[in-house]
Amino acid sequence: KISYYNGEFKNDDEVTVDYNDRAFYFGDGVYEVVRVYNNEFFTLEEHMDRLVRSASEIGIDNLDRSRMVEIVTQLNEKNNIDNGSIYIQVSRGIGKRNHAYPLDKSPVVLAYMNEISRPTAQMEDGISTITADDYRWLKCHVKSLNLLANVMEKERAVRAGAHETILHRDGVVTEGSSTNVFIVKDGVLRTHPADNMILNGITRLEVLKVAEARNIPYEEKAFTVDELMDADEIFITSTTQEVTPVTEVDKKTVANGSKGEVTHAIQEGFDEKIHKLNLV
Ligand code: PLP
Repeated sequence: KISYYNGEFKNDDEVTVDYNDRAFYFGDGVYEVVRVYNNEFFTLEEHMDRLVRSASEIGIDNLDRSRMVEIVTQLNEKNNIDNGSIYIQVSRGIGKRNHAYPLDKSPVVLAYMNEISRPTAQMEDGISTITADDYRWLKCHVKSLNLLANVMEKERAVRAGAHETILHRDGVVTEGSSTNVFIVKDGVLRTHPADNMILNGITRLEVLKVAEARNIPYEEKAFTVDELMDADEIFITSTTQEVTPVTEVDKKTVANGSKGEVTHAIQEGFDEKIHKLNLV
């Protein structure tokens, strides 16, 4: 496989990274994961916009968006992978370890491509989850490389035999450790508003567009853990997880233990978007 680091495309096994890259010391950077279906990018513009926005939020103002598009496009062309994901990371730069950062540093970009397939079994059968306190910082809208809390809380789910951790602040559900969370109650779709408490997922936005197009009423309004447990349907969304039903929370069966009607309709609409890619 071909990867990209600091200006060069190389074979994976020839890439060496600089230990003074601030991504190592401080997680001082931002990233994106973009999905490729049948060799075509899905929602590339949205991901690139968010990358530039995240960078700007942490004071990296000199990120060249068109160069980022060029890197992921070339990476997709150079790797013979039809269905995969591209990880692209932008660190503030390379320099001796010092909290304060020199303003003259150029961002350092790392990008590579993985082969992945759609999580079809989970999208059909649903997954189990646990809940946990959301003790992350207050800039969760930034897709930061700092994922320590997310990593620790995901690990707790895995150790409990579950697939995802649903986070809450004082009983109010924010999002998953690497996903956004939706519930359906009495036919109304609901998810946390896109503020500083969550990452505004690109998949989340696509789901809201599907709801709009299919006349499914929705609210961007936070809900509590109690409302989660009492929901008619629950699903999580992300670039790689797509739209996946949740059938268990903290070992209790929720949402009748199976994929609900609204979830199914949203999945159908999302599928149409993916299939449209190859018709143009
Ligand atoms: N929330 C968090 C914390 C995430 O890490 C992610 C993606 O990895 C998401 C939500 C979903 O975002 P997207 O749909 O853009 O992949």
